[in-house]
Amino acid sequence: MLKDFIEENFSDKVLIIVSNREPYIHKKTGLSIRVERPAGGLISAMDDVLRATGGIWVAWGSGSGDRDVVDSKNLMLVPPGNPSYMLKRVWLSPKEVDNYYHGYSNQVLWPLCHITLDRVYFRKRFWEDYRKVNGAFADAVIEETGNDSIVWVHDYHLCLVPGILRGEKPELTIAHFWHIPWPDWSVFRVCPQSKEILEGLLGNDLIGFQIPLFVKNFLDCVKECLDADIDYHQSTITYRGHTTRLKAFPISIDFDKFNSMASSQRTIRMMKNIKEKYKITQDYIGIGVDRLEYTKALIKRLQAIDLFFDRYERFRKKFTFIQITVPTRIREPYISYKKTVEELVTKINEKYSLGNWKPIIYIDTKIEHEDLVSYYRMADVAIISSVYDGMNLVAKEYAASQVDENGVLILSELAGAADELEGAILVNPYDIEGFSDDIRKALRMPQKEKANRMAVLRRQVKGSDIYKWISDILHEVIKISSVKQKKCCYLFDHTDEIKERLSDKRIFLFLDYDGTLTPIVESPDRAFISEDMRSLIVRLKEYIPIAVITGRSLQDIKGRVEMEDIIYAGNHGAEIWDSSKIVRSQESGVESNLLKEFLDKLKNKLSHIEGLLIEDKGLTASIHFRMVKVKYLSEVFDILWRIAKEYEDSFKITSGKKVFEIRPLNAWNKGDVISWIIRNLGNGRIPIYVGDDTTDEDAFRAVKGKGISICIGGSPEADYYLKRQEEVEMFLKELIKLSEKNG
Ligand code: UDP
Repeated sequence: MLKDFIEENFSDKVLIIVSNREPYIHKKTGLSIRVERPAGGLISAMDDVLRATGGIWVAWGSGSGDRDVVDSKNLMLVPPGNPSYMLKRVWLSPKEVDNYYHGYSNQVLWPLCHITLDRVYFRKRFWEDYRKVNGAFADAVIEETGNDSIVWVHDYHLCLVPGILRGEKPELTIAHFWHIPWPDWSVFRVCPQSKEILEGLLGNDLIGFQIPLFVKNFLDCVKECLDADIDYHQSTITYRGHTTRLKAFPISIDFDKFNSMASSQRTIRMMKNIKEKYKITQDYIGIGVDRLEYTKALIKRLQAIDLFFDRYERFRKKFTFIQITVPTRIREPYISYKKTVEELVTKINEKYSLGNWKPIIYIDTKIEHEDLVSYYRMADVAIISSVYDGMNLVAKEYAASQVDENGVLILSELAGAADELEGAILVNPYDIEGFSDDIRKALRMPQKEKANRMAVLRRQVKGSDIYKWISDILHEVIKISSVKQKKCCYLFDHTDEIKERLSDKRIFLFLDYDGTLTPIVESPDRAFISEDMRSLIVRLKEYIPIAVITGRSLQDIKGRVEMEDIIYAGNHGAEIWDSSKIVRSQESGVESNLLKEFLDKLKNKLSHIEGLLIEDKGLTASIHFRMVKVKYLSEVFDILWRIAKEYEDSFKITSGKKVFEIRPLNAWNKGDVISWIIRNLGNGRIPIYVGDDTTDEDAFRAVKGKGISICIGGSPEADYYLKRQEEVEMFLKELIKLSEKNG
């Protein structure tokens, strides 16, 4: 799917990835040069993308042999043996590495964004070299950019690059992914260069964050620090005439890769070898996998384990915890942190060891993923205790490797991953007592509940893997780039052209509801049409037929718009009201009866679950479990999936935020319904479609070549865009004027 998307959208563009780390490192070994690939899911996923798009990767040339293999422009073709894109290296002196990387990046921005203010250590020289190095990265990008370039910058090392690029090349499409948390203003204001950092980042067209909280924090910081126009609904910031869009894109892993590595015979053998090597014969195994990093709160985790053995003596000799810790930044404060962690491990081992058994096995070398999956698969519990974490990929890797669905994930509620991972036991790492109780709870959890929770976790990670993450971001970037390249033009720059096209023509107007007729609001049940909008539609429908197309149920949309003589299409077109009667799509008649039967079974089995909301939308349904207590969740999931299995030939289940959606397998999309209406009710009229979301793109495509498509915020599929929802009213006023003229 990603491959198709890339082939379709990048044939005429050059993608430039910019990151501190490079995807291939050349190292001198004696007289020869060896190439290494740094580990890490992100690097290999981006490498896959560039192999498909054939662009350029700009990064710090950190290897001892890096200079020997590049050309005069510091470029070289990679991957070795299968060259498909260019790697451009930026050279840094040891002093620059010290100040820009170890200094400003890792001693100012890293602790600041992880709210560990006592570790923020600022030096003027850090900032000076940070600026200088960011300038060098920007120069390297500028050397390679043309009008067709899309630049994708990564992380906190390169905050100033987008601002510099914007100044030099105002038309460039620039996106940034911020991999770590973004703190709130009361924390960020500690940064001596808060203004410069924010201004640099606002050179971007798009900034991706891990979770919505970080988007909100960023908006708040800009509000406090800069004189900018902020739209909290659309999450956009306009500063000095340029608009930046913010959006959450939770990063993920290659689920299939972990799943298949964990299922292999090699892994089964390896699990046996590990147990033999460490003489593990106990009933329960726990696992922790981290870079040696204070934000992972290894001390709190160890304190909780200490308290667990102290309180629950029966688990001594029965539970062994394996802590894998890789040192990645070998300097202060990490050296002291390492010492404290190791002392605590020794202390706990001395305190509780009995015979051959010791409670903690401490491994302080990096274990490659191929082997790591064995540790993940054999662990009854994985413990993640971060005091703040952008995402935490270990949580997702553990779920993907749990092919037997035997394990329990204990996850800090302060890690970004906690936002998505429904089946985990969430802990507050500051509450050591609660934490130690949760270890016991995980180990004593009935097998059925464990399997249910793990099945939920695995489904979530599988459904949102690293490839979905990349395609979601690139989709957004392409949208922005199309708008910039005027493939999708600003409607009000083309009013005369549109008027001319429509003059003396009969029009059919299609309108999406949420985000088009109403602003996007926190809770969908609070989305209502304003009086102004209502009166415009009332006037307009005197002249032209109007259809409202929505993902909501037909009943819901009719109740909200409450107007006669309008066509309504609910459930993405699965049910249509042609202004006098319901016209349903072919497949839906049978499915609505089936869905009712499905929901009746669910209601019957789940009636005792407090807080569960089963919303019957006629042809689709939503199961909201936001208000269900965690202890009942596994029961809900268990029953839902058991009953869903009976209907798997007719319905698919997709998961959203604390909600499952049940939809017919062959459900119509908005494009299908537009085509149907044009064919059956259109009477040769010219269709105009106004929408705002990705689900409207099917409709834009359906209108292509036949009429006019308009997207709020822009889309590569649409002919025109509006800047914000309020402009829909302006457009409708223009249509009224035109209709009055057309008569
Ligand atoms: N990791 C690894 N081998 C190890 C320890 C860690 O490959 O011995 C990897 C782990 O599999 C994960 C990454 O390091 O992919 C850590 O990512 P995470 O998001 O959990 O934390 P970060 O280190 O990025 O803050």
